[in-house]
Amino acid sequence: MDALTFATPLKKTPLGKVTTLLANELDLHTVGDLLRHYPRRYDERGHHTDIAGLAVGEEVTILARVKRAGVRSMQRKPGYVLEAVVSDDSGATLSITFFAQKRHNIEWRERTLKEGRTGLFAGTVTEFRGKRQLTHPDCVMLDAGDDSDAAVDEFAGALIPVYRASRSVPTWTITRCVRVVLDLLGTPPDPLPAHLREGERLIDLRTALHEIHRPTSWETLAGARHRLAWDEAFAVQVSLVQRKLRAATSPAVPRPRREAGLLEAFDRSLPFTLTAGQTEVGADLAHDLATPHPMHRLLQGEVGSGKTVCALRAVLQVVDAGGQAALLAPTEVLAAQHLRSIRALLGPLGRAGELDSADEATRVALVTGSQSAAARRQALAEAASGEAGLVVGTHALLYEGVDFADLGLVVVDEQHRFGVEQRDALRAKADAPPHVLVMTATPIPRTVAMTVFGDLEVSTLAELPMGRSPIATHVVPATEKPAFLDRAWRRLREEVEAGHQAYVVCPRIGGDAAPDDVAPGPATAETSGPGPGIRRPAVAVLDVAPLLTDGPLAGLRIGILHGRLPGDEKDAVMRDFAAGRLDVLVATTVVEVGVDVPNATAMIVLDADRFGISQLHQLRGRVGRGSAAGLCLLVTEAPPASPARERLDAVASTLDGFRLAELDLTLRREGDVLGEAQSGRRRHLRLLSLLKDADLIAQARRRAIELLDDDPELTGHPALAAAVASLVDEERAEFLEKG
Ligand code: ADP
Ligand code: MG
Repeated sequence: MDALTFATPLKKTPLGKVTTLLANELDLHTVGDLLRHYPRRYDERGHHTDIAGLAVGEEVTILARVKRAGVRSMQRKPGYVLEAVVSDDSGATLSITFFAQKRHNIEWRERTLKEGRTGLFAGTVTEFRGKRQLTHPDCVMLDAGDDSDAAVDEFAGALIPVYRASRSVPTWTITRCVRVVLDLLGTPPDPLPAHLREGERLIDLRTALHEIHRPTSWETLAGARHRLAWDEAFAVQVSLVQRKLRAATSPAVPRPRREAGLLEAFDRSLPFTLTAGQTEVGADLAHDLATPHPMHRLLQGEVGSGKTVCALRAVLQVVDAGGQAALLAPTEVLAAQHLRSIRALLGPLGRAGELDSADEATRVALVTGSQSAAARRQALAEAASGEAGLVVGTHALLYEGVDFADLGLVVVDEQHRFGVEQRDALRAKADAPPHVLVMTATPIPRTVAMTVFGDLEVSTLAELPMGRSPIATHVVPATEKPAFLDRAWRRLREEVEAGHQAYVVCPRIGGDAAPDDVAPGPATAETSGPGPGIRRPAVAVLDVAPLLTDGPLAGLRIGILHGRLPGDEKDAVMRDFAAGRLDVLVATTVVEVGVDVPNATAMIVLDADRFGISQLHQLRGRVGRGSAAGLCLLVTEAPPASPARERLDAVASTLDGFRLAELDLTLRREGDVLGEAQSGRRRHLRLLSLLKDADLIAQARRRAIELLDDDPELTGHPALAAAVASLVDEERAEFLEKG
């Protein structure tokens, strides 16, 4: 038989029937899939699993020593029970039980469970009469005895790999399959070029695979992980840098600045002067748009830093050059709000065809799913004819067959979740790929930016416009100091009496809401609520609003806003609030991004511990957008010094979004870091940690740039080209699945 390659289907290996289980239960189909199914952890011979730490209900694989075992007949029913007691190094014990009708059916097992022997046991932890146990676990003994069940060959080394397993494929079955495949594997072509391996002192692929699955020592294992993490980082960076280079050479319609056009008129009409940062970003954008290659730029800046004005100026440059732009917002509320504020900023410049329009004027259209048929028809007509220089809408805008006369620029607002795949869908939209500007107010830690947005140029707006007021943030401990909560409502009232407006934010909508309306906060494990165990449901908009109306906020004009309201109702509420016809808005996180009502100066966040750090930072950005100082009160029942309370204290202690983003990153689980849209990327990053491997990622990027500089199409590096292609395929497949 020929040596195996990564592409060989497992069915074509001598593994036999188990390949069906591997495919069905663990999604492992090829030799490559199996070899990239790295162990989840390693147990060390002589160091048994900490038994006291096991929780009831947990699926576990433990390494333990047999203390005693014996068969007895059952007391109340016919049949026999084999009970073995196993222990760890501290002496904590767990019982292992098997039941059988006939004695000889368990006697063979009793023989394998000899006192003093060590084995691996896999099953679900249950509790019986106060004792924790595993019933009918899968087990395998590690040291040779008189039975044929011992996996002596499999576990020759001191480190025992433990894999993510399934009910019918326990971890040691995977160990055996991996050994068979490794023995038959030819020398796999190494995707990392030899000079890079030497320069970075990385071991070769074959050795790395052997060591990650069958490590000789912790040191060699570390070397293997490091090398394989490089594979992941390098493939991602090569693919992103390659995209960036391709974009830089692919054609696009240049949209250079025009003298005496709409943009100039707009700049003259602005009621404020641009900040130095805005001017600088403006120059970057103006330059990018003028080149015959598509711009791919990320503009990040704190909430209120004035990104929208920058984007609008880019839009006007494109309109001056004869093109159109689309502005995508993540929600209909935000789309509607953008329309309002952009129309206000443009004034007569945005009312072409109307009585008071300016000569250079264009039109701004809105396309949303919930608008009336007539409004939609008109908007579509204006987009198709080119009359509308700017079309505002949600992402649906791009997929729902909206036609543009000449789409030159797409601006994606507040879309942290906008991935490579969405950018691809976009490129298919115009004849020549449009210029793309992605804006985000969520400061993105460098490694995430590099891994998710690594194909974009990045601009940052660091300062806030003059006259922007600071936001004071305080934690209100509702349980220890109930009087503080009363005081909070009184403060909110005072703000309203002084002519301002306020938000009350709740984690949940309420009513007969499905549980999924809970805010996507951080992992529940670290969000300690009132106490361990069952938490009361989070405070809900629909419950809180009437309580406030009849209680502390009686007499104020209160509106509610949440994701389940129909689009036009949401829009009406936002309009009323923006126009000052409402004093207080009780809302969910729909106010998180971009909502801009400068007269709103106070925000009370209820059950604030249910939100993530970055989310709270975003939320409070809604107040202090005008000239009056902002106030944000974080109400919580989390006890002092709990992790939840520490997160809130952190938010209260600084307004530095970047610091909070880094902190958020260290507190979140790795899987949450990339977010929803990047699940494809996440699946590919098995060993690489965006938290811990920042240096490696930066180095991989430098190496990728260096390599592609010499060999942009990777013609001299076929193994690397294949690795990158498979990464891209995986992500594309994932995107298509999600529709
Ligand atoms: P972002 O989108 O970054 O959160 P916006 O562009 O919505 O910020 O700007 C927030 C507010 O600040 C808007 O009302 C905008 O008109 C105003 N603004 C923008 N730039 C300036 C500036 N240079 N000076 C004063 N106000 C500004
Ligand atoms: Mg904005």
